[in-house]
Order: sequence, then C-alpha cells, then structure tokens
Amino acid sequence: MRDVADSVIRIPRSGLPRLLIEQHGGQSSAQAVASPDAHLRSRRVATRSRILGTAWGLAIALACGGPGDPYLYGVDLRSALDAPSYTAAPTYRDQARALLEAAAAFWKVQPQDFAGLTVTVYGATIPCGGGTGRCTGWFQSGACTIDLDAEQTACLGQTQLPHELLHYLLYRWTGSSDPLHTDPRWTQQLPTLEAALATCP
Ligand SMILES: [Zn+2]
Repeated sequence: MRDVADSVIRIPRSGLPRLLIEQHGGQSSAQAVASPDAHLRSRRVATRSRILGTAWGLAIALACGGPGDPYLYGVDLRSALDAPSYTAAPTYRDQARALLEAAAAFWKVQPQDFAGLTVTVYGATIPCGGGTGRCTGWFQSGACTIDLDAEQTACLGQTQLPHELLHYLLYRWTGSSDPLHTDPRWTQQLPTLEAALATCP
C-alpha cells in the first residue's frame, strides 16, 4: 500500500442520517483488509511509535515541513479558488483557530499537535484515493494534508475537518490513521465533537 490514506464520500444531504461510503488509498475496504503487508506494516509502525513516544511525533512534524501559520498553531490553511465565500470572511481564521482549539481540548491534546498539516478547502468534491473516487474529506498521512469539500457547508465546522483531524491524531498515536474506522472513538466520541462544531459561530 503506497500510503495510509483515507477518504469519505458523503451522499448529498437530506433529512436522512449521513450515509458514508469509504475509500482508502484507491483500494476497496475488502482489498485493504486482505493486504497482509499493510497490516504487518501497521503493527510494526505502531510498536515503534510506542517505543519512541515523543520522538515519533517530532519526526512526523519534521516530515510535514514548513512552519505553517503561527496563529493557527502551525496549520497551513488554504482556500481553493472555488472555496465558499465564508473562507474570505474577516473572522474566518479566528473561527479556524477556535475549531483547532476545541478539537484539541476534546481529544486532550495541544492545538500545536496539529502543526505541519496543510488544510485546503475546496468548493466541490475532491479526487481521493488515487482512483476515480470523489470525496468530501481526505487525510493523506504521507503528505500531511487534509483536503475538504466545503460546497454545502456554512462554516469550517460543518466540513469533514473534525473527522479528518481524528485520522491525523490516530496516525500520530498509533502509526495508523485507521482508514477502516475500527477505533471506538469514531462512534463513541467523535459525533459529540462534530455536533458541537456544526453549529456555526
Ligand atoms: Zn474517515
């Protein structure tokens, strides 16, 4: 597997609960499960992560490169040309900063732990997984990037950013971004954060 990658396709909004279809690095979930190499590597990295502790986190930060935006705790927040108009509002960076602080507090980490990520907001679905899939969010651990489709959102908190930040934290904590969403935090904790952030300031 080339990369630990994750993506989400969100079916257009309706009154129904969100339906999520997952793609992972251009492979189907079944293929990802069937790949012994990927699982072997995940275990190896996780073990090394526990041994190295802080040093592992530092290595990831160095690999991400660039100091990012100091006001956003080292996150480089970018807007594509087709990004929603709210990304040009004077309060946008304040809201982004507040979101990072809220997510960090929720997961009991520091906002600086997100440093090195490049977050790009688009106004349409984005390619993901190296295939033909279209997604609303995609975290790529190797590139330290999060791409977001924000076309149907009224603020950053309504994008997949909270979801993708958890992928990033899991990657830092375990060495795997958990593309198959097996960690209990996906269902037991993340919805609470998402609900809180979905109310726009
Ligand atoms: Zn995901």
